[in-house]
Amino acid sequence: MIKGSGRPVYDGVAIGPIYVYRKVETELKKNASDKKKELERFHKAKETAHEQLQALYEKTLKDIGEEQAGIIDVQIMFLDDLDFQEGIEAMIEQGCDAAFAVHETGDAQATFFASLDDEYMKARATDIRDISDRLVRILLGSDTTFRMATPGILVAEDLTPSETVQLEKDKILAFVTRQGSSNSHTAILARVMNLPSLVQTNIDIELSLNGRTMIVDGFSGEYYIDPDEETMNRMLAKQKEAKAVKEGLEQFRGKPSVSKKGRKINLFANIGNVDDLKYVIAGDAEGIGLLRSEFLYLGRDDYPTEEELFSKYRAVVEGMKGKRVVIRTLDIGADKKVDYFKLDSEENPALGYRGIRICLLEKDIFRTQMRAIYRASAFGPVSVMFPMIISVKEVKEIKEFCAGIREELRNDGYRIGEDTELGIMVETPAAAIISDELAKEVDFFSVGTNDLTQYTLAIDRQNAKLDYFYDAHHPAVLRLLKLIVDNAHKAGIWAGICGELAADLSLTDTFLEMGYDELSVSPSRILPLRKNVIESEV
Ligand code: PEP
Ligand code: MG
Repeated sequence: MIKGSGRPVYDGVAIGPIYVYRKVETELKKNASDKKKELERFHKAKETAHEQLQALYEKTLKDIGEEQAGIIDVQIMFLDDLDFQEGIEAMIEQGCDAAFAVHETGDAQATFFASLDDEYMKARATDIRDISDRLVRILLGSDTTFRMATPGILVAEDLTPSETVQLEKDKILAFVTRQGSSNSHTAILARVMNLPSLVQTNIDIELSLNGRTMIVDGFSGEYYIDPDEETMNRMLAKQKEAKAVKEGLEQFRGKPSVSKKGRKINLFANIGNVDDLKYVIAGDAEGIGLLRSEFLYLGRDDYPTEEELFSKYRAVVEGMKGKRVVIRTLDIGADKKVDYFKLDSEENPALGYRGIRICLLEKDIFRTQMRAIYRASAFGPVSVMFPMIISVKEVKEIKEFCAGIREELRNDGYRIGEDTELGIMVETPAAAIISDELAKEVDFFSVGTNDLTQYTLAIDRQNAKLDYFYDAHHPAVLRLLKLIVDNAHKAGIWAGICGELAADLSLTDTFLEMGYDELSVSPSRILPLRKNVIESEV
């Protein structure tokens, strides 16, 4: 039996045969004698790749949604990129084989992107490798589709977005990769598909693993290959238990989230785009507590228009059928950079030009978004909140700005909601400490514990090396949480938590005791949380 471990990204136990996902061979023939023929081969392969990607785009759009399809669109853009094409042609002119030229050019460009500071651009390295692998496969005449004869566990070095969308998803029991982070595309997909999965494992990937039995323990992060009888029995029992727990949660569907002593708490969902709505409904959320609106600005070449934003917000609001939707305004900056924003590179981006700071200095961007949000508010209850607030001055400026937008829209003849709440994210120590003053200005607080922890403990939340120190249970964070809710209630407004900590089941009692009115979490976390609330003695 081989035993190893990795970082779990979704809980549960999966047992099945291994399917090793093979990347394209890199042992390529270097030289070719006929330059003209190689150029022709390259252009023909490019055409085929175009057709494949276009078909994939359409399939993805239909099966998964616009956001995922956008990833394919970015790849089509890379395929057509002139630098990429000219680099390949130049190598062919120097006598290289077409597949070798594609592989080397793709590798050089991917290495360049991976070296950039910007997290978004860094991630594009995977798209470039994906594109060049596809071209190489076409040039080598090898099969570009990966097939699984039976349900099984997919083991890979890493999976690119276009690889994951092509997989036969109903056959996958778990993902196990050597690379990837808990926010990688594979990890996100695993969570959405409820698949116990591990990233950053120490597994030695070799073809001889194919067909061998593997167990993935998404609770502990361990995996076993060729498990012995004792391990198999133990894991089968754990799997059965996990399944029973999930089924047991169904009894909490549709129930009010009220503790034994009658404390009511709203259990809302966090989402990033319209496609996530189906998970909100499946998860039985009572509303949307955080729509991370910046996702509507990512993966594109230019700013979305007011109409584009409006139609997306409207779809979410209508989809929630009268349940409240809290839209957070654009939180671009820090790890979420977008080319067309033309943001300078910064020494300390998390402390830099981000969130509300951009909106307050670039009012046109803010105006377009606020107009779209207010227009959507005519179709159901909408609340708006602003990220990265540090002062009363900012809030006053925002309120004045929003009043102006409402006036503008009425004059333009638009119908808008009359009771749109304005709230703030409390995610800086400054906002927490002056929350008594801020509470007098707004309708609600939503605590972003991811950033509040980062800024309170002075620990970069993106740095995996600091995981050991990143302690969201730190007394400094918990004291701030108490201060925030107390100050909210003194001013007669409600307070919720929308950072990852809200889903921490070991803190549900604490949050109820503190008096929080809302917890907003990933859709799949709602039912476990509701069980905790209903069974709480607090
Ligand atoms: C937070 O900071 O806790 C939060 C919810 O916002 P984000 O994770 O998008 O920064
Ligand atoms: Mg935040």
